[in-house]
Amino acid sequence: MQIRRLRLTGFKSFVDPADLRIEHGLTGVVGPNGCGKSNLLEALRWTMGENSPKSMRGAGMEDVIFAGTATRPPRDFAEVSILAEGAGEEIEIVRRIERGAGSAYRINGRDVRAKDVALLFADAATGAHSPALVSQGRIGAVIAAKPADRRAMLEEAAGIAGLHVRRRDAEQK
Ligand code: ATP
Ligand code: MG
Repeated sequence: MQIRRLRLTGFKSFVDPADLRIEHGLTGVVGPNGCGKSNLLEALRWTMGENSPKSMRGAGMEDVIFAGTATRPPRDFAEVSILAEGAGEEIEIVRRIERGAGSAYRINGRDVRAKDVALLFADAATGAHSPALVSQGRIGAVIAAKPADRRAMLEEAAGIAGLHVRRRDAEQK
């Protein structure tokens, strides 16, 4: 899976909509101190499901919303979209947070749970953390889970497996 585009609105210092195309190969982000390089990487990780405010350098999750400057009022929401491409298929993942209302996720325009996004990236061997950390965490969680929880996880995985079956079907038509 490759990330092809990143769009941000109201996320940290990116108060105005920003649209970044990401080309094949290695991408470097350059610019003066404080211009938002780290914020960009945080936007990627946040959209993939990062939920630790500390790792977003904030005290609470709403700190990712543009907080205002001397000349610009604060925003009520932040939204980031990742357009990814894998196996010739495009998938758009959107995370949005509103003050007082928490986060919502969409995959290809459909409302989904945070879990669905986490599974999507776990399945695609990428994600908010390194691939190894995500898969190790998931394996550990499955092993340590109570039977009922393990069943829920497996059902979740089966739901994603269903998506792949549908994709194969579509490719054969
Ligand atoms: P460096 O080269 O020093 O690592 P950088 O390019 O990585 O800098 P960032 O850390 O991404 O810069 O951006 C820091 C800027 O983002 C600061 O100016 C900070 O005020 C701003 N910022 C962070 N969170 C918010 C927010 N919620 N609202 C508005 N601005 C924010
Ligand atoms: Mg930085």
